[in-house]
Amino acid sequence: MAGLYIHIPFCKQKCNYCDFHFSVSLKNKAELIEALKKELILRKDEVQESVETIYFGGGTPSIFMYDELAGIFEVIQANYSINPKAEITLEANPDDLSLKYLKEIKNLNFNRLSIGVQSFFDADLQFMNRAHTAKEAVFAIENAKELGFQNLTIDLIYGVPNMSLDRWKQNLELFSSLDIPHLSSYALTVEAKTVLAYAIKKKKIKPLDDELAKIHFEFLVDFMKEHSYIQYELSNFAKKGSESKHNTSYWQGKKYLGFGPSAHSFNTTSRSWNVANNSKYIKSLRAGELPSEIEELSKSMQYNEYIMTGLRTIWGVDTNKIKIDFGDQYLSYFNSRNKKYLEKQILYLIDENRVGVHPKKFFLVDGIIADLFCVD
Ligand code: SF4
Repeated sequence: MAGLYIHIPFCKQKCNYCDFHFSVSLKNKAELIEALKKELILRKDEVQESVETIYFGGGTPSIFMYDELAGIFEVIQANYSINPKAEITLEANPDDLSLKYLKEIKNLNFNRLSIGVQSFFDADLQFMNRAHTAKEAVFAIENAKELGFQNLTIDLIYGVPNMSLDRWKQNLELFSSLDIPHLSSYALTVEAKTVLAYAIKKKKIKPLDDELAKIHFEFLVDFMKEHSYIQYELSNFAKKGSESKHNTSYWQGKKYLGFGPSAHSFNTTSRSWNVANNSKYIKSLRAGELPSEIEELSKSMQYNEYIMTGLRTIWGVDTNKIKIDFGDQYLSYFNSRNKKYLEKQILYLIDENRVGVHPKKFFLVDGIIADLFCVD
């Protein structure tokens, strides 16, 4: 099973918290699309098996018109074997999702939409410098549903300054009233070199309140459980059967290929990443060269990767897998490190072999993962 990730590195405007790779200038869009197609062709032999998921992420993939997406699809179909039941996702911003555009992308076989709503309140959207309004978000969801996009997910951000618990609750209630089968929800975080980090440094905005984010997270976990969503990963909630196949593959350590500037690839024993610069990416592919660096993963790195992804999911970490894939030494190390967390009931035994983070303690997961890491 393999997944393809296509990174579309353009956005209409810069959200103040974002550190993804994108450009707000579209001037080399056509050249970038040509380079992307070339990369897809050059790397086709890296995948022998059938492709089970395709994910257009970004950036803002919905910034591309029908013809541009159709051209990329043609190249994928001509060079890869796609399972007819493959999950094919488009990340989209609400202001792009007119009925006309939705009809077009449906014809391209996108069968899953991930809409970057972030909040149903204009005050939060303005704080984050999002390019859309709350009203546009609701319209986009309703339009998508009207056109039969059943496999739908939205993103919501919590821990935003001035977002009271009551406003967060209203966000979730609105989400629930729209009957959407999947939610990805993240705490607002301050990434280095973002507009948000700069504003905090210059004291134009107060530092984010971790306690507020924790309260919002705990409310989220309870709310989603009460509404019959499964928290299958730290930040992801789904009605049974609506889990993202593409992201689940990442978390289960399966192979994926990433195309486009800044995209990462993983083949279980090595990972590689493309240059995070649109001009350099185009130049390299024009010369017929892949613009990527590769890193072979040592056994410890593979173990760390498994701990990191496993503990963020409801499936946890399988001690049998540690024993078989990494050996007794790693299993003893894991057991000795996880003891204190089991005693404090932060970690728990999901079954005889699997160890997971208690759902209410998921906000501690990054610290636990770091503590369980193995350093060569
Ligand atoms: S739309 Fe998405 S990728 Fe673009 S700036 Fe905003 S958060 Fe970042």
